[in-house]
Amino acid sequence: MKLLENKVVLITGASRGIGKGITMEMAKQGADVAFTYLSSEEKAKELENLLTKEGINAKAYRSDASDFNQAQELVNQVLADFGKIDVLINNAGITKDNLLLRMSEEDFDKVIKVNLKSVFNMTKAVVRPMMKQRAGSIINISSIVGVRGNAGQANYAASKAGIIGFSKSVAQELGSRNIRCNVVAPGFIETEMTAALDEKVLEEWKKQIPLKRTGTPEDVAKACVFLGSDLSDYITGQVLIVDGGMVM
Ligand code: NAD
Repeated sequence: MKLLENKVVLITGASRGIGKGITMEMAKQGADVAFTYLSSEEKAKELENLLTKEGINAKAYRSDASDFNQAQELVNQVLADFGKIDVLINNAGITKDNLLLRMSEEDFDKVIKVNLKSVFNMTKAVVRPMMKQRAGSIINISSIVGVRGNAGQANYAASKAGIIGFSKSVAQELGSRNIRCNVVAPGFIETEMTAALDEKVLEEWKKQIPLKRTGTPEDVAKACVFLGSDLSDYITGQVLIVDGGMVM
């Protein structure tokens, strides 16, 4: 049995990396998938075609998650195309790393806007339709950096910790409407975001991971399948860490 049959899932920032992995895994579990991209139209269309060829109802939308109005327009368009949204996955995110002494105001503001404000924008846009449905699952992608901090990532850590506080509040506000809101906090996942890291740094990280390997987008996607499906229908306001055991 597929776990997401008859569900419509909306995922932000899915032309590559973890977002792409989540989109593919959700589709594999029977979901209809609407997903966004910011600038990589070619990659997004490629993914849309790949899924459509498999007989999956999939559509890519260009939308900047950090823009309040674009988030509203996107949700209206997805509702018009798919009829409903059962699961929202806020995945879009960026890094602009630097030590605090060298971090510019611009880089702080940008990371908060793209990583945290986007979660507010998108969640706000889906809340009314989910309330009408009296059902919904919102999954916000944070990071272990939001749980324990990281030198050189004060802006990113603040945005990812903010996501946790936001999600727990939403879970409390909307639980009575059967809308769940949970956080997935990945550890070290190999994607374009982490590809720039030095091989030595990577080896050091791996040594600290009890499961002795870095994570894949599929590892994160499987946690999202669980939180998006009815398997987790009594779970809300939680932070599910997917990091091979680094933080425990
Ligand atoms: P990535 O850079 O490969 O992908 C991020 C995606 O988000 C890209 O497709 C990008 O175009 C999109 N995006 C950026 N700004 C956007 C915006 N304003 N609107 C819409 N889309 C936008 O990164 P990734 O490694 O796949 O990370 C995905 C998420 O997982 C991020 O939130 C990241 O912080 C989080 N995360 C990643 C790791 C890791 O190790 N890779 C660890 C913990 C958390």
